Amino acid sequence: MDIRISLTAVLFCLVLALCACSVIGQRSKKSIGKPASLLDLALIPPIIGNILIINSDIKAVSVVGYFFHFIGMNLVVLATIGFAMAYCKGARGKDHTHSTPKVVYLALIVDSVQLLINPLTHHAFDVEPTMVGGKTYYVLIPHAGLTIHRILDYLILFCIILIFLIVTIKTPKVNKEKYLVVLISMVSLTLWETYYIFSRTPIDRSMIGFGVVGVLVFYFAVLYKPLYFLNKMLSSIAADLRQAIFVFDPDERCIWANEQGMKFTCTEETELESINEKLKAIFSDIDTIEDGEFSKTTGTGDNTRYYLLQKRTMTDSKERLTGLMISIYDNTAEQQRLKREFYNSTHDSLTGLYTREYLYECIKTALSSDNKLHYLIIFVDVKNFKIVNDIFSNEFGDMALKQIAQYIVKNSTERCIYGRLAGDTFGILAPKGDFKKHLIERDVSGFTVTDGTVEHHLLIHLGVCEVTDRDTDVSVLFDRAHLAISAINDDYNTHIAYYDNNLREKVLQEQKITAGLKNAIAQMHLRPFLQPIADKDGKIVGAEALARWVHPEQGLLPPASFIPILEKNGQIVEVDKHMWRCACETLTRWDNDLFISVNISPKDFYFTDVVADIKALVSEYGIPPERLRIEITETVMMNSADERMANLAELREAGFIIEMDDFGSGYSSLNMLKEMPVDVLKIDMRFLSSTNDKERAKTIVKNIIRLSEELGIESLTEGVETQHQFEQLALMGCSLFQGYYFAKPMPTEEFESFAGIEKN
Ligand code: C2E
Ligand code: MG
Ligand code: MG
Repeated sequence: MDIRISLTAVLFCLVLALCACSVIGQRSKKSIGKPASLLDLALIPPIIGNILIINSDIKAVSVVGYFFHFIGMNLVVLATIGFAMAYCKGARGKDHTHSTPKVVYLALIVDSVQLLINPLTHHAFDVEPTMVGGKTYYVLIPHAGLTIHRILDYLILFCIILIFLIVTIKTPKVNKEKYLVVLISMVSLTLWETYYIFSRTPIDRSMIGFGVVGVLVFYFAVLYKPLYFLNKMLSSIAADLRQAIFVFDPDERCIWANEQGMKFTCTEETELESINEKLKAIFSDIDTIEDGEFSKTTGTGDNTRYYLLQKRTMTDSKERLTGLMISIYDNTAEQQRLKREFYNSTHDSLTGLYTREYLYECIKTALSSDNKLHYLIIFVDVKNFKIVNDIFSNEFGDMALKQIAQYIVKNSTERCIYGRLAGDTFGILAPKGDFKKHLIERDVSGFTVTDGTVEHHLLIHLGVCEVTDRDTDVSVLFDRAHLAISAINDDYNTHIAYYDNNLREKVLQEQKITAGLKNAIAQMHLRPFLQPIADKDGKIVGAEALARWVHPEQGLLPPASFIPILEKNGQIVEVDKHMWRCACETLTRWDNDLFISVNISPKDFYFTDVVADIKALVSEYGIPPERLRIEITETVMMNSADERMANLAELREAGFIIEMDDFGSGYSSLNMLKEMPVDVLKIDMRFLSSTNDKERAKTIVKNIIRLSEELGIESLTEGVETQHQFEQLALMGCSLFQGYYFAKPMPTEEFESFAGIEKN
């Protein structure tokens, strides 16, 4: 084929390719897209010029072709400057803002002008016909103007090549290829063009190079992804990962593994293919698992290892298998740490039992499961555990708690859930059938702890609450079980108590009393009732103030329904102080010598300075002390007897009359009587009338009265209900009497009219 036709065809294809590249470059979002597009566009005129030169046997057309070629070369140089600046921008660094010297552009313009005036001056080139392949071809005759043009273009190109050379050398290895390709292309093209110039070959084939380089440079600048770089980068990322990573081909042959993968399977680089078998030996089901993430364990006991395994199959766009990736992460240390942390946060460090929070959680889960078991909640409490720590040592106390925990563990069935609630209390959830009350009662009653030398009996109480509603809060269930223990009181033979509705009612009532007291006092719902005290002749000489709570909802409450509750929590002091004050107020209103006896609870001595308070009251109201009589019970003497004796002596000294209440109900009455600083002995008929032997009771009363007479103590019998009793007691020498025979306790106003009291 004619060289001209074939060259034209090739050049034409290249022009089309360059056009396509320019369009893609214009549309590209990359910053290099536009400069690359301009470069390819600039390459088109010189090629078109050459197509004209090759195919024309008309001189004028050839000259136009040469103009296209030379002016086009200036455009190429211009576009190459723009491209080189943009392409090397990254390599030169962000702060590098060198721009092309203006003189370069000026030189190119001047050069283009001098070429354009060539038809007039013929200083740059001429053309002359020659024969190539039997056809006329206008070959170039260069003059000085063209030499200047070529020197200028070569100079600029040389500078650009130099820039690329420096950038290629300076840039890191992984990035070199993208600059190297451009550099080699430009150098080859320059050499090819130079060869053409000096060889004086009539037909310029180097234009093919222009087209190819244009496409090549465009590809590397706009479309090319630096795979070598990416490969390096991904490999280094994979090497730093904690996971062992394996890549398999579609035939499941391992083709790549990172360092961890090699270590994990103890494999050398050359033995990659053995990895599949090795992995199967560790995870037998690795072949069958599907894509996704899985937790796997290997080994047992202390040798257990935990792995996170990820499998991902890779397919192409037609869903054909291209390979698969497996990543394995050994998180044994993390799992063990988590397990340890979980254990520590859910188990009590001393006993190893569950902590209260975790126990509640486990019980809640058990109760919300749909098994049909009837459950009991058991609250285990060690009475007076503080004493164990005090008497022995904290170490002994700790050991005692551990022994209780061991007992619970040993005697609980698998279905029980137990834990330590707080210091000396434990909690258990047990199916009703697993709670063998009599066996536990037996064990608990003889529960002793020992450290080998000392042995100590622990008083353990169990409060039990049956779970009737599984939705009830676990803490509420334990509160109820705890409450049940309060029902045991001081009964040494009972160790297990159940929570029931009575207890619930009792607790509710206690709460109401406790919460309502302050208001009851302020509103005078709690006030004294007076019960007359008579002398031998039946004449009213005084009264005992007895507390009554006229409750707006519950009606008249006797002291037995609130005094024990208030004594327990110390609020009794408020009641008593209120009663004393009311008694004083009443006494100031009376224009006579009648006295009022007030009761003093043993607890009062703990919470207030009784002596000072009472003294202050009588002086505040201006009452002679003997008119406010003071009733104490012998239990006052139970603790700090000496101090109490001193208190009573002080009151007597101040002129108060001390009455010993409920004499005969205690244990050491007679013994104490010798030393007790009291003025009146109140003998309670009711204690004596509870004995069957009436004669015996009579003898006891008679003797107590005689004894008190001998000790110079006045006697008062309370609980006198009949005239006969009154007469008999009077005969025995009793001087004062109180009881229903005379009157029941009554409101103050009623008493005042009953006793015919005049008020001032
Ligand atoms: P107490 O001081 O021994 O009071 C005598 C109790 O015997 C009173 O019961 C009274 O109503 C009752 N009583 C009097 N005569 C007879 C009788 O002939 N037959 C019978 N069966 N009972 C009779 P009350 O008022 O229920 O008081 C019970 C206890 O409550 C009192 O025993 C006292 O220990 C305590 N108490 C009452 N008021 C107060 C108070 O203001 N402060 C303190 N700390 N305790 C009080
Ligand atoms: Mg009394
Ligand atoms: Mg009494």
